[in-house]
Amino acid sequence: MTVIRQDDLIQSVADSLQYISYYHPVDFIKAVGEAYEREQNPAAKDAMAQILINSRMCAEGHRPICQDTGIVTVFIQVGMNVQWDADMSVSDMINEGVRRAYNLPDNVLRASILADPDGARSNTKDNTPAVIHFEIVPGDKVDVHVAAKGGGSEAKSKFAMLNPSDSVVEWVLKMVPTMGAGWCPPGMLGIGIGGTAEKAMLLAKEALLDPIDIHDLQKRGAGNRAEELRLELHEKINKLGIGAQGLGGLTTVLDVKVKDYPSHAANKAVAIIPNCAATRHAHFTLDGSGPAALTPPSLEDWPEVTREAGGDVKRVNLDTVTAEEIKTWKPGDTLLLNGKMLTGRDAAHKKMTDMLAKGETLPVDLKGRFIYYVGPVDPVREEVVGPAGPTTATRMDKFTRTMLAETGLMGMIGKSERGDIAIEAIKEFEAVYLMATGGAAYLVAQAIKKAEVVAFPELGMEAIYEFTVEDMPVTVAVDTQGESVHKTGPQFWAAKIEAEKINVA
Ligand code: SF4
Repeated sequence: MTVIRQDDLIQSVADSLQYISYYHPVDFIKAVGEAYEREQNPAAKDAMAQILINSRMCAEGHRPICQDTGIVTVFIQVGMNVQWDADMSVSDMINEGVRRAYNLPDNVLRASILADPDGARSNTKDNTPAVIHFEIVPGDKVDVHVAAKGGGSEAKSKFAMLNPSDSVVEWVLKMVPTMGAGWCPPGMLGIGIGGTAEKAMLLAKEALLDPIDIHDLQKRGAGNRAEELRLELHEKINKLGIGAQGLGGLTTVLDVKVKDYPSHAANKAVAIIPNCAATRHAHFTLDGSGPAALTPPSLEDWPEVTREAGGDVKRVNLDTVTAEEIKTWKPGDTLLLNGKMLTGRDAAHKKMTDMLAKGETLPVDLKGRFIYYVGPVDPVREEVVGPAGPTTATRMDKFTRTMLAETGLMGMIGKSERGDIAIEAIKEFEAVYLMATGGAAYLVAQAIKKAEVVAFPELGMEAIYEFTVEDMPVTVAVDTQGESVHKTGPQFWAAKIEAEKINVA
């Protein structure tokens, strides 16, 4: 009989969450490094360079890879011969570990969890509760997988109850383009097949805990149907040409994981859950000898990457930029932003559009300004702001027309594509949409030299800030004519991959 002490589980969960906030798994670093080497689209290559540089900076600085530090998901297997020296439930111990990790003063993580999700949506302030999956297994150990899942990638999850004769491959290939780039590719797809509706979703999530090893599988060949599907889907998804951050390119998925389970004769449940550029998970076992020890990766695990500022990079002064100047920007152009920008995301946009509907004056003047869709991590030590990468722009699509029409806003900065309603408004008001690299939050934060809350402080990380930036790198994603790089890029690269028979497997 093994005795597991309460504080050993609490501290191990806390240590794992801190660890994964700043260390990518080594298999992920290597896979992005290989994709970076192979990439032919300069914009996608630069996005991967930013992800790799950010990753190494986070490992050195012990600060979060992404401003979205995720919802904690735990898979725990408890041996039947384990005895607990504890007065808390196992769920309470795990949640205490989450609380300890997210409020650690040296590396405060963003609290992103809102209680009463269809009501008050009030922040629980310590990122609890975790989503916990239990299994009771033979043995005398406790085996734990801890993950912190980004909201942007979780939002792109898909599920279908297919007919038994339907093709899983066809369904996945139909779904992936509809997922856009809000899941911050390149990443992994977890696919669950069979069981019941909830079992398929769980299999897809669990599949993401496995290491990236598609190249090993290619060498040894598929041994079962799940492995056949992995090989086929990995190649066919990459042939879609979606590429890093949806800019078009050779690598959309670094790996595809498939888990299956016996199914009812009438059903074929299938689920997709993507894992993003902030792939974060760790594994530990408790055997009664104390808390888990996690071995940090070596800095040599990161490839040497340098970003080349191409000759066509434009420096922009946001304090003096004009409507005429933004008309010269073309989709795919790289800009370095300087000067002052405002921030705002879901809650601030809802509040502002509600105020406009009531004829009230906004607390900030948006005329001629740029707004950055971001919810930063709180700063520590000498930082002016914590990691502050872009959030998914499509969530702000429904507010865009009102914002452009009624405030005189000139431009927006966010992550991934815009939907058609936003693009039409951008074209009509000759505004512009710029994208920053999702998953490069600590790198982006280095460009922010001053941060001040200017409205809605009660919204916490969703408050409106004014940032002063120096050389913040962005790509023009929708120009004043409404041309979107997220439409033209993948189309061009899918055609090129096909025409030139480029190997993307
Ligand atoms: S990398 Fe992208 S999807 Fe992942 S947590 Fe960060 S912003 Fe969200």
